[in-house]
Amino acid sequence: MERTKISELENRISEKVKIAGWINARRDHGKLIFLDLRDSSGKIQMVSLPQKTETHKIADTLRDEWVVEINGIVNKRPEKMINPEEVLGKIELEISEIKVLNEAETPPFEISGDTSNISEETRLKYRYLDLRTDRMQKNMKTRSQFIQNCREYLFNKKFIEIETPILTESTPEGSRDFVVPSRIHPGKFYALPQSPQQYKQLLMVAGFEQYFQIARAVRDEDLRADRGFEHTQIDIEVSFVSQDNFLNLIEGMMTEVVEKMGYKIKEKPFPRISYKEAMEKYGADKFDLRTDKEKEEGILAYAWVVDFPFFEKTADGQWTFSHNPFSMPKPENVPDLLAGKNIENIMTQQYDLVCNGFESGGGSIRAHQPEILKAVYKVMGFNDKETEERIGHLLEAFTYGAPPHGGIALGVERNIMNLTGELNLREVQAFPMTRGGQTAVMKAPKELTKEQLKELKIKIEN
Ligand code: ASP
Repeated sequence: MERTKISELENRISEKVKIAGWINARRDHGKLIFLDLRDSSGKIQMVSLPQKTETHKIADTLRDEWVVEINGIVNKRPEKMINPEEVLGKIELEISEIKVLNEAETPPFEISGDTSNISEETRLKYRYLDLRTDRMQKNMKTRSQFIQNCREYLFNKKFIEIETPILTESTPEGSRDFVVPSRIHPGKFYALPQSPQQYKQLLMVAGFEQYFQIARAVRDEDLRADRGFEHTQIDIEVSFVSQDNFLNLIEGMMTEVVEKMGYKIKEKPFPRISYKEAMEKYGADKFDLRTDKEKEEGILAYAWVVDFPFFEKTADGQWTFSHNPFSMPKPENVPDLLAGKNIENIMTQQYDLVCNGFESGGGSIRAHQPEILKAVYKVMGFNDKETEERIGHLLEAFTYGAPPHGGIALGVERNIMNLTGELNLREVQAFPMTRGGQTAVMKAPKELTKEQLKELKIKIEN
């Protein structure tokens, strides 16, 4: 007999079925044994009757989290046993045969409960068990659904999905790089991508016009509740697009994606607020437009923040970019940028998508002419040679007919946190790191063997 998924049992009343999964709970009621079985689709109550002597004996040995295959008959529950709180609360499975596929140790915490109060160390050490819990299963499914809906929207709009390298050169995204030593070029290092920024711009030069990627981004930043070393972004870039049309496209995507998932949006079209107005009104460029009642109802309040200043001063008085060095100034500010004057008043075609008090995405229309990009680097204090070293490849590419283009990156974790109400990034990643930067389940970072170090020509200083 073929295995049936538990969620399908509703349509199989009075039939013989085979199901398989994990023992989720066990209740002994006198001679009857009640066992809940869980698979990835749901949970079902099963009953073992004492008259089936042999099977009943096996049922008596079963413990939580054992993996079993069960043959039985789907019955309607007696009226007084119906549980409206269970999805399949009107039916149960009468066990006729049990096959134990694997036994299980007693888990270090309860799988049938909510693990938010269990210590992070224990949860991440046994992440594969933590992920079995209802809340974590739901979070991961929400994440998968969100990504699938984004993909569908973008494919419908004729986007193409392209992967960019993981071993790459460091990009000036403003964070510290994670680096990877090269064996065949001793003393030289790759960097893991902080974002696919330059590659996606090169793809525009390459004529793809509408690119996206579900991209991993790695940044060596201080770990916080809403920040890990690794995150995923829906990375998008489009050619021949105005800021207005681009924001409409992304707004269309977010609206379709979250409404399909049953969420409500507070205001459509999303309000557009200038950076200046946001700072005056909310004292920050991220803000929460929801009322307390809307917070309780899980409503999503999106807004665009636009018109950012291009540059800001560093601690030592040097100009640096406020968001993204590859952005295009507002057209009226291009002459000032090229002349290197009036820097504090240069505005950029940069935009952030804010949702429920957090930045859920950010991007810009880019500088596609080499002179403009060079002028940005000049303002930031780089001479021609230094600029060439950093972004010479991009400047060169732009001399071969780079189309005007712009894009965005939407943080997957941040968006899923908004959808699920989770406050910690680790709740929406399958295998996040601990706050101490230790990988879940596995033991990185760890030392290399002497042989590995020798091959890489690396000496460790104590
Ligand atoms: N590269 C930017 C980031 O990762 C997003 C963008 O401008 O597309 O934040």
